[in-house]
Amino acid sequence: MSQNLVTLETRLENIQGIMPKFLPKLKKLGIETVHDLLWHFPTRYEDYSTISKIDQLKPGDTVTIRGEVNRVSTRRAWNRRMYITEVLVVDETGGINLVWFNQPFISKALQEGTRANFAGKVFENKTGKHMANPTFEVLRGTAQTTHTAGLVAVYPETRGLTSKGLRQYIKTFLDILKDIEDFLPEAVLKKNDLPELSAALRQIHFPSSKAQAQRAQARFAFEYVFLLQLNNLKLRADLAKEKAPKLAVSDANLKKLLAMLPFTLTDSQQQSLKEILADISRPHPMNRLLQGDVGSGKTAVAALAAVVAAANDRQAVFMAPTEVLARQHYHTLTKMFKKFDGGAALITGSEARVYYEKGLEEKKTKAALIKLIESGAIKTIIGTHSLIASGKDPVKSHSDHGASKKGGVHFPDPGIVIVDEQHRFGVRQRAALSDKKTADLLPHFLSMSATPIPRTLALAVFGDLDVSTINELPKGRKEIITKIVDPENRPKAYGFVKQHIKAGRQVFIIYPRIEQAEVTEDESGSVKKNVAWSESKAVKAEHERLSTKVFPDLRVGMLHGKLKAVDKKKVMEDFKRGVIDVLVSTSVVEVGVDVPNATIMVIEGAQHFGLAQLYQFRGRVGRGEHQSFCFLFTDSHSETTHKRLQALIDAKNGFELAEKDLELRGPGQFLGDKQTGLPDLAMNSLNDIRLVKSARDSASALLKKDPELATHPKLAEKLDNLSQQVHLE
Ligand code: ADP
Ligand code: MG
Repeated sequence: MSQNLVTLETRLENIQGIMPKFLPKLKKLGIETVHDLLWHFPTRYEDYSTISKIDQLKPGDTVTIRGEVNRVSTRRAWNRRMYITEVLVVDETGGINLVWFNQPFISKALQEGTRANFAGKVFENKTGKHMANPTFEVLRGTAQTTHTAGLVAVYPETRGLTSKGLRQYIKTFLDILKDIEDFLPEAVLKKNDLPELSAALRQIHFPSSKAQAQRAQARFAFEYVFLLQLNNLKLRADLAKEKAPKLAVSDANLKKLLAMLPFTLTDSQQQSLKEILADISRPHPMNRLLQGDVGSGKTAVAALAAVVAAANDRQAVFMAPTEVLARQHYHTLTKMFKKFDGGAALITGSEARVYYEKGLEEKKTKAALIKLIESGAIKTIIGTHSLIASGKDPVKSHSDHGASKKGGVHFPDPGIVIVDEQHRFGVRQRAALSDKKTADLLPHFLSMSATPIPRTLALAVFGDLDVSTINELPKGRKEIITKIVDPENRPKAYGFVKQHIKAGRQVFIIYPRIEQAEVTEDESGSVKKNVAWSESKAVKAEHERLSTKVFPDLRVGMLHGKLKAVDKKKVMEDFKRGVIDVLVSTSVVEVGVDVPNATIMVIEGAQHFGLAQLYQFRGRVGRGEHQSFCFLFTDSHSETTHKRLQALIDAKNGFELAEKDLELRGPGQFLGDKQTGLPDLAMNSLNDIRLVKSARDSASALLKKDPELATHPKLAEKLDNLSQQVHLE
């Protein structure tokens, strides 16, 4: 290979030294460039730091021995499908048989007289001690070793590409690229006492000691969090340069507005409203996350901001992920205000209507409504994301007007955009909503989230947003009675359910996904778990049992992820309408279901769910006037499980629980699929508040000195890659 030309960016397929058959395997591990390879970090280290004497070996030990090959034989096993290679190795104290299965090439690498290190686990059977599939390294001249002495890195592997192979490649490239220029500024490294890049790469793959390995890990953890913080702070700075309409309201007018509401705001609603109103009265775009449990009154607070926008002659746009949620927002808003200046519109795939004041609500064709919206006549608009923000408008084919323009509905004077569970809404997205005439002013942005994110994670991942939190429910809500139930009391619980259904209520029964683990062993003898999910199976079986045996005279419906979207919708609508008494479901029911008549939430296999998720399930009941219940079934007797479930009973709100969950189960579950692809190292570092804070401080200090990172081009480039690579939306 033309080694001088290899850089971190070089794609592996362009490097001659890499056998083509390994390329797809590397790709499977997410490795396509030299950079990917060097950043493929070990999950652990095997300690081979001492060389054992053969006569000292004990079964069960993981050891390295050094000796000479005395005899080699390869044969086929009895069923003729498997090659067995046997090698007798001797040192000055004795000999031991080493066995490899299905690796006939071993006999080429190891011949009589070859000196080598062998590392692996010692077994004993009736023929004596032996080692199966040991890793080996032939010694030539010097005794310097990569695979069999000292701390040896163990990597995420794939079939046909072992840690040994990965180590070999990594070593080759570390040798070629001796000095990789560090993109972290020296001052940042110094301040945080971290090794520079080349050294850290070498030490993380080929550590000279445990301490050095840890120092290297610390650097890469820092590096990732630091880049995230830089990204956050830069987004913030970029947005601060943009202009937004000032949406102001006088104290007197605000008082009047609040007096019109059918309820008084809770303290934390008031606080959040204050923060939002302060933001939108400024001439720069707001970027704020409003978090609070379902039903805590987020939409109500957002509605007040919308009304303030209308009073300033600007439009407020609510975007919901589903039609159901859009309709729910519309109802929350129209219940709050007798009258909307400029009207409040609901526009979804199936509905188009405008509410002006109590008793005056008009149905429209979608085309007519879009025309009204695009003329600026309607000030408050509620709809689904897909309808508002994308070009895929169902109206398009029927009309040349309105939304037939590319890019969805255009708003002549958008003042604020309010979106559910979407944490990023960039400059371009904001601009795309606006009409060209007003595109120099960007709308303010408010994200509403009912997913409680622990403080550390919020800071680490969404640090470009300001956060307002509603941490209490409106007064008068009844607490949901929550109980942990032993399976032997299941009949009693069913009786309770029947009683409540007789009284007119409805019930959820939630099942976890059933995990069927298939355990296999790979060539190196390490065990792998292939997890196959079959959630629908369990739910189908239970649905059958409940509807025929337990509740034969009740209407039992079923919901799971494998149903078609239309069928899901139908089941949910039937449940909402009260045509279904008992809804048997997997976790798909989590998303924004509002059925105030449902009063019992039964959760089977509760130990399989995270606390945050259990909390969300429980939030499906207790939404109406009736006392509600949540039963947590578990057959687990583990103390930690019961502690966890007890936390659900004790916690005051979702945020408290989220913190607890983070402590008990780590950050992965909060970030979900969006962040997969992150190395565990990075994932876990997000949970380290001290690390997040020092990374943020360093990032902020650096940007203060050099806002465009002009003197750190490598870092700027790295940052660009990060925002493209990792999905931060
Ligand atoms: P969220 O958006 O956080 O789920 P909503 O704003 O939709 O909550 O409020 C849930 C319900 O509670 C709505 O019907 C709303 O009108 C009502 N509500 C909101 N705030 C209050 C309050 N302070 N007091 C009484 N009811 C409230
Ligand atoms: Mg809501």
